[in-house]
Amino acid sequence: AMRTVLLTADGSPLTMLVLQPVFAPSLPGPENVSAGANPGRLQGFALAVIRPQVLLERTLQRSLHDPNQVVVNVLELMTAEQPTLLAAHPQDDQTSLAEAITPAHFKQSEFQAIQPLFSFGRAQAIAIRPGPQFYAAHPIYAGWLTGFAGLLLTAVVTLFVGFLRKVVSFLYYRQATLERLVRARTAALQESEERFRLYFDLGLIGMAITAPGKGWVQFNDRLCEILGYSRAELASMSWANLTHPDDRAMDIVQMKRILAGEIDGYTLDKRFFRRNGEIVYTLVSVGCVRTPDGALHQFVGMMQDITQRKVLEQKLYWLAHTDSLTHLPNRRHFLEQAELELTRFKRYATPVALLMFDLDHFKQVNDRYGHAAGDAVLCHVAAVTRQMLRKTDASGRIGGEEFAVLLPETDLESAWQLAQRLGQTIASSPVDTEAGTIAVTLSIGVTLFAPIDATADAVLSRADRALYRAKHHGRKRVEIEEPG
Ligand code: GH3
Ligand code: MG
Ligand code: MG
Repeated sequence: AMRTVLLTADGSPLTMLVLQPVFAPSLPGPENVSAGANPGRLQGFALAVIRPQVLLERTLQRSLHDPNQVVVNVLELMTAEQPTLLAAHPQDDQTSLAEAITPAHFKQSEFQAIQPLFSFGRAQAIAIRPGPQFYAAHPIYAGWLTGFAGLLLTAVVTLFVGFLRKVVSFLYYRQATLERLVRARTAALQESEERFRLYFDLGLIGMAITAPGKGWVQFNDRLCEILGYSRAELASMSWANLTHPDDRAMDIVQMKRILAGEIDGYTLDKRFFRRNGEIVYTLVSVGCVRTPDGALHQFVGMMQDITQRKVLEQKLYWLAHTDSLTHLPNRRHFLEQAELELTRFKRYATPVALLMFDLDHFKQVNDRYGHAAGDAVLCHVAAVTRQMLRKTDASGRIGGEEFAVLLPETDLESAWQLAQRLGQTIASSPVDTEAGTIAVTLSIGVTLFAPIDATADAVLSRADRALYRAKHHGRKRVEIEEPG
């Protein structure tokens, strides 16, 4: 209800405060106020300051300053039952008002305030209610503060809720994106794992995964097959045990480089022992898998059986370097070795001797016993020569029935003695052939490597000159040609 507060000083009225409640959401105004009178929706109070003196005077003069703002009726309260209307708002129906305004009614009236007023020695009351413009003309205190605070709060809450919604939707979006990513990655990983497993099981190549210090993690059937072990047997073997002892060192060198983080993998031609003791030549590729911090996690090894290729390679090498009849190194191979020896000689200067020998009257052997018998004699000479040599010596068939021997760390005297012994051995060991027993002799030329020799051919020519002299001096003998 409308309230009035009378501020008095020494019993004389000074000022009257008029407080008019304002309810939301009704638009301020007398009609709306009454329509929306709900204490729960109290928005605030319109506050007006009215000086009773002026009010009274104006009311009495019926010239209220602004009837739009406050409707004022002044009553004489001499009798309690029937107050006398002293002054009324011109627009009010005075009769009905007088009837309506009873003291009991005063208290009940919601939108009308009754202020007892003792002025001019008479008990009077001023009934005040807001005019149409009351609210527009007076500030609504708690209202705009509340409203402003509410607006502010609403704005803040709206912003915050908006922000929260944004955050939530962003988080949701992120999570959805992450989930999608994880799903995609998982699918990709699964696919690559399946593909890896497929290659693993396909058995085109021997494959193994090992962990440092733990041995096998897994290996495929092809690996078992290459190494000739059953799955259970191989599981109890180690990579090092299976490796050919001569190839362990080079494997370890590469493994150390991996451990040092220098490389992540290597490829080697390696020999392994099969279960039956055979050597299997393999091409091995080893790669390592590291953890994100660089530590070694696993090795992945792939093994290809290249035995056939190796055998073929060796066969080709042998064919290219060996005389097919005597199985001694051929001229090219012998010269290669002599060339290497010459390089070594120039570095270390230890004496190196070279013999060259030719079968005497071999044409006659062929003529008399046939070419096959001649071949048998050549093989016999080659075998005897080989038998008489040290491991470090090298021999070769350098022509039809011409041979040469390389004698590292051998001086002229020793070489001459060996040549003598060789000539005597051949002469005293005739060969039994189908065509008959054949005895042959040798003419031998001996020389030494010299610092001036630019090529092995130069040494060979010198030995040839000595050989020529041996032939010239009657054959079955040894001649020396010293360098320089
Ligand atoms: P000398 O050396 O003592 O002067 O007489 P020679 O009869 O041995 O003469 P020469 O060295 O000229 O003859 C070499 C002969 O060796 C000619 C050739 O028929 C024979 N000959 C060369 N290569 C082979 C071969 O692979 N098998 C056989 N059976 N004979 C060969
Ligand atoms: Mg000859
Ligand atoms: Mg000859």
